[in-house]
Amino acid sequence: MSNYFKKYPNNEGFFEDYGGAFIPPFLEAEMKKITDAYNTISKSHNFIQELRSIRKHYQGRPTPVYYCSRLSEKYGGRIYLKREDLNHTGAHKLNHCMGEALLAKHLGKKKLIAETGAGQHGVALATAAAYFGLECDIYMGEVDMKKQQPNVVRMQILGANVIPATHGLKTLKEAVDSAFEAYLKDPETTIYCIGSVVGPHPFPMMVRDFQRVVGIEAREQFLEMTGELPDNVVACVGGGSNAMGIFSGFLDDEECKLHGIEPAGRSLELGEHAATMTLGTPGIIHGFKCYTLQDEKGEPAPVHSIASGLDYPGVGPEHSMLKDMKKVNYDSINDNETIDAFYELSRLEGIIPALESSHAVAYALKLAKKQPQKSILVNLSGRGDKDIDFVVETFGLPK
Ligand SMILES: *Cc1c(COP(=O)(O)O)cnc(C)c1O
Repeated sequence: MSNYFKKYPNNEGFFEDYGGAFIPPFLEAEMKKITDAYNTISKSHNFIQELRSIRKHYQGRPTPVYYCSRLSEKYGGRIYLKREDLNHTGAHKLNHCMGEALLAKHLGKKKLIAETGAGQHGVALATAAAYFGLECDIYMGEVDMKKQQPNVVRMQILGANVIPATHGLKTLKEAVDSAFEAYLKDPETTIYCIGSVVGPHPFPMMVRDFQRVVGIEAREQFLEMTGELPDNVVACVGGGSNAMGIFSGFLDDEECKLHGIEPAGRSLELGEHAATMTLGTPGIIHGFKCYTLQDEKGEPAPVHSIASGLDYPGVGPEHSMLKDMKKVNYDSINDNETIDAFYELSRLEGIIPALESSHAVAYALKLAKKQPQKSILVNLSGRGDKDIDFVVETFGLPK
């Protein structure tokens, strides 16, 4: 796998069968411009130095790796966390948003455009826009704006315009339509910033590259702490950016087992989960090929997860490839197991995890029971402050 990052994706943005850019010709030209610019700028000394400095002085990187002694004592195994919850804004998303915004600045763009569902990507991008003095338009379904009021206010405080999508079901899909439409009106001075390792080429590659810092740091830190590599690396998978970030540090290490955890939701019936790779089939969604959940008509199926950051009916093309290669084990965790893990980590370690990350923690607890001699490194992708009201109102406090 040593030439892995040179080999994948290929020049057309394919990870073997997956990825690519299934988009109209005029958009193809825009994506090609971004690809060429990225390939040049991302190798320049200035870009690398500036990103390095931002990560250290603004984001607070490197984030620590932490050994969970009480959790390990109770469940067996040796459980470690890569603390992306301590990255500025409380999750890994800022890693790629700062990269995308820095690229936008180098390209001379004036405005960042994106959609957001629960608001996490919108908040991270609004943060990056404020840092660079760029304008920021975030499209959000009117229904989601009501549900996620605190994040709407956060984006507004940060100076972003939050623009409601008022057609159709007024949720994420409509927000994507509106954001794309706005971008296509003015691709010269604006740039569309995708929030995970999804979308047409070059986004899955760029977002992965910006997240690689997580895996590079974690491998070095784990080695330094323990003198060995972790036996298992676990991350939750929505679109797949935090998982690609940490996995990319260990793809060459045959002895590390990688586990990507999808949401099994309420049940494994279509519409009740978002376990795209566990239960889906290859198809095209949002301009790229990947495993997808589809209904009988071949349309993206409705999905559910207790963690709003994980409910996407597709997944990154690179994960789709890694699944077929059997390089990563993809499995799922349901809503109830997630809530139990949310409280276990809070009460045994004093760390309230995001519900997305709680999926990875839940899987780690299962692994620890099965493999008491082994070590497990979990990517704790974000902190759970955003989820506390929902969890307590819906599930109450544990007995
Ligand atoms: C958005 C989000 C995720 C899911 O996105 P990926 O691209 O799959 O990483 C996971 N964890 C947190 C905390 C998030 O905010």
